[in-house]
Amino acid sequence: MAIGANKVVTLNYKLSDDQGNIIQTTNKNEPFVYLSGNNQILPKLEEAVSGMLIGGKKNIELNSSDAYGDYDEKAVQQVKKEEFPEGANLEAGMEYMAHSPDGKPIAFVIREVHDEEVTIDFNHPLAGKNLNFDVELIDVRDATKEELEHGHVHGPDGHHHH
Ligand code: ZN
Repeated sequence: MAIGANKVVTLNYKLSDDQGNIIQTTNKNEPFVYLSGNNQILPKLEEAVSGMLIGGKKNIELNSSDAYGDYDEKAVQQVKKEEFPEGANLEAGMEYMAHSPDGKPIAFVIREVHDEEVTIDFNHPLAGKNLNFDVELIDVRDATKEELEHGHVHGPDGHHHH
């Protein structure tokens, strides 16, 4: 029986790349929780999890095209240092937020710092990577009315923003 929409799904996972490097892990004390059917996780990952049983484990492999997409060379740009706010720490590896033309925040990372210009990269940090998830499904329950109205999970395993 597949997990339908509007369920609170609790799982633990270990995410690694094709080289076996661990990218992210959750643990028993801080599992990952999402509201199903609300585009809160990668669609292909959600699809694979929806076929799992509580207590079950599954290895889910996603190609980069089903995860964060291919690495886009055009998303690497040169900007003048003066476009950064005064006092900004301009070092390779620093992450900043910019706004897209429609006002959405988009993250970028500084790749290189030159005399007058900085090379920045708007690619998602996981762009171009195949993702391997080791998933253990911990719990599935119906979302409460309030959770559905808010579009996110409440309670001990959710966000404490109220
Ligand atoms: Zn809320």
